[in-house]
Amino acid sequence: SVAISHLTKRFTEKTVFSDINLTIQDGEFFTLLGPSGCGKSTLLRCLAGLTQVDNGTIQLGEQDITHLAPQKRDIGMVFQSYALFPNLTVRENVAFGLRIQKLDTKQIKQRVDDILALVELGEFAERYPHSLSGGQRQRVALARSLVVRPKMLLLDEPLSALDARIRKHLRQQICAIQRELKLTTVFVTHDQEEALTMSDRIALMNEGKIIQCDPPEKLYIEPSSDFTARFMGQYN
Ligand code: ATP
Ligand code: MG
Repeated sequence: SVAISHLTKRFTEKTVFSDINLTIQDGEFFTLLGPSGCGKSTLLRCLAGLTQVDNGTIQLGEQDITHLAPQKRDIGMVFQSYALFPNLTVRENVAFGLRIQKLDTKQIKQRVDDILALVELGEFAERYPHSLSGGQRQRVALARSLVVRPKMLLLDEPLSALDARIRKHLRQQICAIQRELKLTTVFVTHDQEEALTMSDRIALMNEGKIIQCDPPEKLYIEPSSDFTARFMGQYN
């Protein structure tokens, strides 16, 4: 599990959030939902180690990772638009993530083939990123973060740059892969429909605070505040 305790993050003048407490279970699909600027990406970046926290701790399994370097955290991450290496093929882009692990050529090929099959990109292995659609590129990004077998996957609006039809398909694909790998996942979105259909649990945030943290049905049927009721009721 992931235990987030008393987490606080400030940028010079502004406190983004203070005293955030959350526990995410092993294998859970956990979503941070909330309006623009509420602190979702900042919280995710703290989990990834891309930004330092000002107070509090992050525990991943038995390990306190609060001050670990990002590459030592065993965490995979996919952003809204992921910078693939344009001069590397799909296969090479995915294999790049394996460089730090000591695997021989045969093992690398097997791992990359397996993960490309999982994201349904087997036929695209020798293509270059410029010849792929946005959805296919995001699947390469996903494959690259999964190939190292992370303990946790962080997804920051990975679907928001895609058109509606592709978005729906990739949404289902991400859920299927997450379940197959039983991978603890923290997903960030400002789209309530996306959150409702994908998540085991949702933490609804506003202005750096967690307003309600519950399974989708409960947030929708038993909102604990006007903010929850209003936010869950509206569809983009
Ligand atoms: P969105 O849905 O638009 O992506 P978000 O919920 O991800 O929003 P964050 O990016 O976490 O929001 O930003 C939360 C607050 O922290 C915002 O007010 C933002 O301006 C501020 N912030 C984020 N990064 C920095 C930074 N590097 N320096 C100063 N302020 C920052
Ligand atoms: Mg964001």
